[in-house]
Amino acid sequence: MGKPTGFMEYKREKIKEKSTLERISNWKEYSSRLSDTSLKTQGARCMNCGTPFCHMGVEIQGKVAGCPINNIIPEWNDLVYKGQWKEALERLHMTNNFPEFTGRVCPAPCEGSCTLAITDPAVAIKSIERTIIDKGFENGWVLPRIPNNRTGKTVAIIGSGPAGLAAADQLNQLGHKVTVYERADRPGGLLMYGIPNMKLEKEVIERRVNLMIEEGINFRCGVNIGVDVEPEELRSLYDAVILCIGAPKQRHLYMEGSDAKGVHLAMDYLADVTKSLLDTNFEDGKALNVEGKDVIVIGGGDTGADCVATAIRQNCKSVHQFGKHPILPISRTEDHQWPRDPNIFTLDYSYAEVNDAKGYDPREYCIQTKKIMKDESGHVLELHTIQMEKVLGDEGFYYFKELPGTERIWPAQHVFVAIGFEGVEKSLPEQFGVEVENNRIRASIKDFETNVPGIFTAGDARRGQSLVVWAIKEGRGVAASVHQYLLEANVAL
Ligand SMILES: Cc1cc2nc3c(=O)[nH]c(=O)nc-3n(C[C@H](O)[C@H](O)[C@H](O)COP(=O)(O)OP(=O)(O)OC[C@H]3O[C@@H](n4cnc5c(N)ncnc54)[C@H](O)[C@@H]3O)c2cc1C
Ligand code: SF4
Repeated sequence: MGKPTGFMEYKREKIKEKSTLERISNWKEYSSRLSDTSLKTQGARCMNCGTPFCHMGVEIQGKVAGCPINNIIPEWNDLVYKGQWKEALERLHMTNNFPEFTGRVCPAPCEGSCTLAITDPAVAIKSIERTIIDKGFENGWVLPRIPNNRTGKTVAIIGSGPAGLAAADQLNQLGHKVTVYERADRPGGLLMYGIPNMKLEKEVIERRVNLMIEEGINFRCGVNIGVDVEPEELRSLYDAVILCIGAPKQRHLYMEGSDAKGVHLAMDYLADVTKSLLDTNFEDGKALNVEGKDVIVIGGGDTGADCVATAIRQNCKSVHQFGKHPILPISRTEDHQWPRDPNIFTLDYSYAEVNDAKGYDPREYCIQTKKIMKDESGHVLELHTIQMEKVLGDEGFYYFKELPGTERIWPAQHVFVAIGFEGVEKSLPEQFGVEVENNRIRASIKDFETNVPGIFTAGDARRGQSLVVWAIKEGRGVAASVHQYLLEANVAL
């Protein structure tokens, strides 16, 4: 344990963020690191609990509490307190292939279940994690680990998101020869073309992928399996195949006027902006630019929040985000008691930015768009909305009731639809003969194997839209299962 009385002596320090007005003038990461001295103090706050809820990743009332990949948090907190950064890095890499991703973008369920959070703000676990790995790269401690022996077995992984990358890393270290196929022009999946640059700079992904290439993993980008390469051909070339193809099918908006010009799917906007930024620093003009426009984002979730942050960086005239649900409470409610995720009101990065730049919180709660009006050229002109109330019905279920007299008209020239994802694209699983159930590829969490022997799946494709940390967990899980399969079978697909 770090300092036995640390949790009583020191206050939590928040993740360091650049000032809102400075950061919206560029596309660089908005968060940065605390100083080593501050982090030592933060490490000292850890109580090294007998039962470290932060690390356990168990399900409580249908929700996971603690770190899903069981990061050994108390140990690295202690090592950071003692200034043993390299040893802390070794502990971190034991459970997490890519702490530089999670240290930046994970919502940190570990902090929600930290014991200290019962009475005080949680230990700053995410800040500590990020700094351990960043220092690891800076000090040259993260070196290619080239396997000494090769098994002669080959594995194809389709999809280079965090699930595919984690599976590739694990299987390569076990000596198998891994090729990752990616239909996009760059590897990373939603890390690259979903999460915006200001949350996760793309050099961070490239640095890790380059390391993996040095370690012997083969990346083939710009190859759309099922279109450019027949599944049968792939199966004949590899001993096992893993589908890590994500759950990218976006939910469309169906209402009067939703076919208007200027109504876009959120992911198209986010991906195009990142690609244009990376390719030419926007000089190719290929990304939609909402400068000087009124923007509405329909959908109150994180993808919508990323659209808000993107629009404010393009200097939009106004931006509002419509959500169906009421505002969250400021403290834990009865059904979100510790150690569960607190599910409370926060001012996330994009909302703080709009607040400071425009003077209002862009979020609108309990709001329903009734129709989208077009101008004479068929372009979106305005949105008509009504407020709703969330009501508990007689049968114990909540429903939304419209409130007459709350109708409102919102000017808009661009609308981003961010109302969720439907799941996996079915055509590739079908070509492999793999079953899809409830828009997810069917495979058990125990062995990740589909109904077709030798074809495995992991990540969002198997569990539905989720988080980077879950994708890493699934990637590690499927790798263990594929390894077992390759050892047991004298495989010939
Ligand atoms: C806008 C947005 C922001 C997010 N922000 C966060 C965040 O801040 N924190 C967090 O933890 N999570 C976040 N998430 C969720 C997280 O990114 C995903 O849960 C995670 O990336 C899933 O990983 P995956 O490897 O399963 O799939 P993906 O990352 O979706 O990768 C799948 C890959 O498969 C490729 N592919 C599909 N079909 C083929 C084919 N036929 N041939 C070749 N390649 C193919 C795709 O091109 C893609 O690159 C966000 C998601 C979105 C949409
Ligand atoms: S639950 Fe919090 S205080 Fe306890 S070991 Fe984990 S980080 Fe430290």
